[in-house]
This record gives sequence, C-alpha cells and structure tokens, in this order.
Amino acid sequence: MSRVISIFNQKGGVGKTTTIINLGASIGKKNKKVLIIDVDPQGNTTSGLGLNKKDLKTSTYDILINELPIDKCIVKTSAENVFLIPSNVELAGAEVELVKTKNRELRLKKALETISNEYDYIFIDCPPSLGILSINALVASNSVLIPIQCEYYALEGVSQLVDTIKLIKKGLNPKLEIEGVVLSMFDGRTNLSIQVVDEVKKYFRGKVYTNIIPRNVRLAEAPSYGLSVIDYDPKSRGAEAYMDLAEEFLELSEEEF
Ligand code: ADP
Ligand code: MG
Repeated sequence: MSRVISIFNQKGGVGKTTTIINLGASIGKKNKKVLIIDVDPQGNTTSGLGLNKKDLKTSTYDILINELPIDKCIVKTSAENVFLIPSNVELAGAEVELVKTKNRELRLKKALETISNEYDYIFIDCPPSLGILSINALVASNSVLIPIQCEYYALEGVSQLVDTIKLIKKGLNPKLEIEGVVLSMFDGRTNLSIQVVDEVKKYFRGKVYTNIIPRNVRLAEAPSYGLSVIDYDPKSRGAEAYMDLAEEFLELSEEEF
C-alpha cells in the first residue's frame, strides 16, 4: 500500500511547497516511486516541477469535480521517479463547486483507492487554508507532515492546526497521525532561529525531525528553472539538507510499518 501524506500548515510561506518538491525528489533519487498531488490553486508545486500551469490537459480539478479516473491525470516531472497530478487556478473554483456535491470531503480519498499499490509514497500539497480542499487532502491521508518556519510567530496558528487534525481524526479519518514536523528556513546565526527550534521541539515532543532545513538561496532559485534543488544544484546546502531529511524520513516511516 502507498503511504499517503499531506503536507499541511494553514499558514502560507512556511515551506510546504519547497518541502514537497525537494523531499519528494530526494526520495525519488533513493529509488522510491513518488506521486505528488498539487491541491493548491496557486500551482507552485506544478511549476516548480517543470510543468506549465497554463498548459495542463488534466489536473486535480478533474479528479475532484469531473471524477475523471486518476490515472488519466498523472504526468511525469523533471525529477527522477516523481510523478504529479498538477493544478492551476481553475482549482479555486472547486472550493465553491464542491459545496453542492455529495460526499464532497471524500472525493480525493475515493480517487486514490484506485491506485493504492502503485506508489511507495503519495504526498499532497495543501493550500494555505482550512477549506474543503485541505479537508479532502487530510481525509485521504495516513498522516500529516507539518513544515514550520524558524521565524517570529512560528507557533502562531499551530494550536488551530493541531485542532483541525484532531477534528478530522474524530470524524472523517480516525487513522490520521502526525508523521513529523520539518523545521525550515533555519538561520544558525540568529538566536531567534535557535529559540524557535527549542519551542517547537517542546510543543511537538518527539515528532520533530533532527535534520533541519537551512535558509538557502538555491532552494528559492530552483523553482524558476522547473527543477528540484537536487537537480538544480546537488552540492548546495539546501540539496544536502533535503537528502538528509529524506533518509531520516524513510527510516522513521518504514519503522512504523
Ligand atoms: P508555502 O508552500 O508554505 O507557501 P513555500 O515553500 O512556497 O511555502 O516557501 C515560501 C517562499 O520561501 C518561497 O519563495 C520559497 O522559495 C522560499 N523558501 C522556502 N524554503 C526556503 C529555504 N529553506 N531557504 C530559502 N528560501 C526558502
Ligand atoms: Mg505552497
């Protein structure tokens, strides 16, 4: 069975998309078959993996609204062993259209059931909101990976995030767990970053990955070339950090099964 993991934090700009692209690409490099589903209408994961958002034949929208078979919506990406269900701004409309439909929270879960053995890992990139798109992602997942930025107010909104996970667990998806917490945009020169790491570790006891992602300009540049940092600059600190994180991630997630 594929393990399905949502990358979720309702705050924007915390490193969800950067993490899904580069953790996904790192895991792909380690010979695991990865599917990434872009559930954010901004489509940053889609363009970051080398696809033109304006030129999509099919997308996440077709799965949620048109109930198109999921295997018709999967495309190759610039990253080795990484496949993608892309998205673009059309998906913003799905938020409204789904209100009128039956089983609207279960659409993605149902679609994934048809390919449940074909990938080692399925990662879902969530939009920065707690709406029906994020709910579809959380209902379809085994677990949640939470990126947190090492900045002021890092823990702001985190209790709401944890409450949302609890709510989904209580109602629609009793098996949902926290996979782990990724600290991102760490700057070792500032006391602030170091303090945030301590605070987050206290809050999420035992759930925070040892490998922390530093602030690294290569990570910010890579998406404009449609490449993961692993392909754009494999020797950069950003690439090394995500490869190390992938190793830790795989060790821990394989332990659980
Ligand atoms: P989210 O998906 O949570 O909104 P992103 O992954 O898009 O967040 O990151 C927000 C911005 O910060 C992007 O411009 C991205 O390139 C940049 N960024 C993310 N992680 C890093 C990092 N470790 N170092 C430098 N820039 C980063
Ligand atoms: Mg994003």
